[in-house]
Amino acid sequence: MGGVLPRNWGPAFPRHATPRKQILMSAPVVELSNVRFSWSVDSPIVIDIEALCIANAERIFLRGPSGSGKSTLLSLLAGISRPNEGRLQVLGQDMATLGGAARDRFRADHIGFIFQMFNLIPYLSVLENVCLPCAFSERRLARATKSGGSLQAEAVRLLAHLGMADGELQSRTATDLSVGQQQRVAAARALIGAPELLIADEPTSSLDEDRRAAFLDLLFRECELGQITLIFVSHDASLGSLFDRVVSFAEVNRAGTSWLGKPAGRP
Ligand code: ADP
Ligand code: MG
Repeated sequence: MGGVLPRNWGPAFPRHATPRKQILMSAPVVELSNVRFSWSVDSPIVIDIEALCIANAERIFLRGPSGSGKSTLLSLLAGISRPNEGRLQVLGQDMATLGGAARDRFRADHIGFIFQMFNLIPYLSVLENVCLPCAFSERRLARATKSGGSLQAEAVRLLAHLGMADGELQSRTATDLSVGQQQRVAAARALIGAPELLIADEPTSSLDEDRRAAFLDLLFRECELGQITLIFVSHDASLGSLFDRVVSFAEVNRAGTSWLGKPAGRP
C-alpha cells in the first residue's frame, strides 16, 4: 500500500493528533431512537432501529450485506428521506420533523455525501464540480473561502491534497477522468466547506486494494483536519479495522428479518 502514496504524503495511517477517546466522549452528531422506515405504505419496513448514536469526529464503518438497507439509512441521515416514525437527530436537529425544503437546506449546509457512483455533473469541469456545494450553501462558501483564501483556491487545495494538483486535470470535464480520479473529485466535493458530517456510500467498491487504502488515508486526513464525523458504508469487512467503530447493520437494524427472508446477521 505504501508504494502508491507519493513520499510527501507520509505514512498511510498516521497517529491522530487528538486522542480518539477524548473525541468519542463529546456530544453525539447522530442520534436515532425507534426509527422505522418503509419506501411506501404497502412495502415492508426496511429500517427499524431501536438506538444508534454516533459521536462528534467519530469514524464509523457501517457494514452489511447488499439490500439490507444501508443506503436507505444514509438517505434518512442526509434528510433525503424522512422516517415514518421515531426520533432522528443530526447535529441536534430532528430530521423527522423538518419539511423537505428545510432538510435540503440543512443537508447543503452540514452534510457532505460521496455517492457510490460519484454523481459528478458530467458537463462541468473538475474544479466546478468541487465548488458546486458552495453554490447551495453560504455557510460552506464562507468556510471554504476562509480556509483557502478564495473558493477556487480551497478547491485547488483539496484536489492537490487528493493527488490532483495538475491544472490541466482540474479543467477537464468530469467524464474525461478515470474511476479513481472521479472518486477523488467526489471526495473533494463532499469535503469542501468542511461539513460537520461526511457520508460515504461504498465509495471504494470500484477500486483495487492499493487505491482503496490510499483513498481512505486521504479521507481520514481531511476528516481529522476539519474534525469531521465520518460514516462510511462498505460490504468489505477488511476495511473495518481502520475505523473507530464497526457497526454491523444486521445487528442494529431489526428489520433485517424481512429482506431475503433470512434472520438478521445470518448470511
Ligand atoms: P443496501 O444499501 O444495503 O444495499 P438499500 O438501502 O439500497 O440496501 O435497499 C434496501 C431495500 O430498500 C431493498 O429492498 C431495496 O429494493 C429497497 N429500496 C432501495 N431504494 C428504494 C427506492 N428508492 N424505492 C423503493 N425501494 C427502494
Ligand atoms: Mg447501498
